[in-house]
Amino acid sequence: HTFQEMNLAPVLLPALTKMKISKPTPVQSQAIPASLDGSDIIAIAQTGSGKTLAFALSLLTTLQKKPEARGLILVPSREMAQQIYKVFLELCAEMPVSVCLAIGGTTGSKQANQLKKNPRLIIATPGRMNDHLSGNKLLLQNVEVIVLDEADRMLDMGFAPQLRTIQSTLRGPRQTMMFSASFGSNVESIAQLFMKPDVVMVR
Ligand code: AMP
Repeated sequence: HTFQEMNLAPVLLPALTKMKISKPTPVQSQAIPASLDGSDIIAIAQTGSGKTLAFALSLLTTLQKKPEARGLILVPSREMAQQIYKVFLELCAEMPVSVCLAIGGTTGSKQANQLKKNPRLIIATPGRMNDHLSGNKLLLQNVEVIVLDEADRMLDMGFAPQLRTIQSTLRGPRQTMMFSASFGSNVESIAQLFMKPDVVMVR
């Protein structure tokens, strides 16, 4: 399938053309249709596989279809969060979606104020997200799509307790997409915590 055949939000297609991206990578071909069907997904995917666009295109299409839905993307490092933020800004050139970073290294109070306005999309590291949830009594209302990017790295960095706390604050139906370079028992246990039993595996 081409991107045009994937039922993406039409407003995203010119953004892809501008980014000179024409043909889906294997992870995009598999993950995007499954995600748009509403399935939970575990994709074993390395950096360079096109995983960022796989979840970004799916997530933005869902946010466009469901005006009340919000998304949360959890990543291991602030550098990754900033890279992903840039990709979303490019994709959202013609699609007004409020995006907020929740990462260390910048003032927490400014972020807290932005988060209180309930942005459609939060890109966060688990540590900082957790700080906001406990310190500022922030609620993750209407978060219907969760992305766990580089899940194995988040766990290697010791973020399991923060991921568990974040999961415990989520309410209501939701879809989870997990991307990981490897799938060991620690990744599996976080997958079980976040995800429905019937998961689509993408390799
Ligand atoms: P990622 O695996 O998300 O880190 O992406 C790696 C790189 O591949 C990024 O620079 C993307 O811009 C690029 N990329 C993603 N999807 C495609 C695609 N379908 N065709 C060509 N390049 C792509």
